[in-house]
Amino acid sequence: MDQPKIDLLAEWMKESRRTVILTGAGMSTESGIPDFRSKEGWWKKIDPMTVSTVDALEHQYDLFHGFYSLRLSDLKKCEPHKGHDALADLEKEGHVSAVVTQNVDGFHQQSGSGTVHELHGSLRKIFCHECGARADEAAFMERESCSDCEGHLRPKIILFGEMLPQDVWGRAIQDIEESDLLIVIGSSLQVAPANELPFLSDGKKVIINQEETYLHNQFDLQIEGKAGEVLQLIRDKVLEGTV
Ligand code: NAD
Repeated sequence: MDQPKIDLLAEWMKESRRTVILTGAGMSTESGIPDFRSKEGWWKKIDPMTVSTVDALEHQYDLFHGFYSLRLSDLKKCEPHKGHDALADLEKEGHVSAVVTQNVDGFHQQSGSGTVHELHGSLRKIFCHECGARADEAAFMERESCSDCEGHLRPKIILFGEMLPQDVWGRAIQDIEESDLLIVIGSSLQVAPANELPFLSDGKKVIINQEETYLHNQFDLQIEGKAGEVLQLIRDKVLEGTV
């Protein structure tokens, strides 16, 4: 681990008035949830345009349901890791203002982060695609139809071809614009428009990722490493002055 970079980021976090975190799928791989684009990612096995789409939901429900019921059952076997806990600890001590996440696993909230903007929705909330009625996760897992209208049940995630949730995005953008330190963690920065968000901040920009992304040189500091390990070191340095 590059200790001088950890020390520098810890200094920046102590000096910052508003630090905002932007997380991607790489934040949760250490919990056992595959990301989409690295070597072990989902999309090396399944083409997203065949399954994470409104078209699949409406016309190939077996495929859609198979993919998302598997992701939901995998999620239930996993837990947030110490990196999620570190972010929650840093927020409680006033060193993080908000977490903006592309993830749909709910791990930040489960770890105790209070201000979390879920840009792409949540796998854990189920509703009817036709009439919008809320439904139980168990009903979705059992492949039941909506009890009100017989419509297809689905998780409350944003599929390709759907509008992004304007209220959540509005709050996320406001927090990012007001930040003086923006830290991206575990994102390939390939998904638009989420990959444009870091550059709405006029403050310092940092990326923590296990590999270089194509936008790496647009950040003031790049830390290559695993999110969980790096965040524990940062938390210890900021809160306890150790490391
Ligand atoms: P991505 O898969 O495109 O990129 C993940 C990045 O994280 C890669 O660059 C990878 O090298 C890096 N990475 C993997 N493990 C890491 C670790 N332990 N520490 C540091 N970096 C690590 O992910 P993305 O940019 O978030 O875009 C993917 C889309 O897929 C998002 O829209 C997201 O909603 C969705 N997704 C979510 C989950 C989840 O909720 N956990 C999982 C898979 C995909």
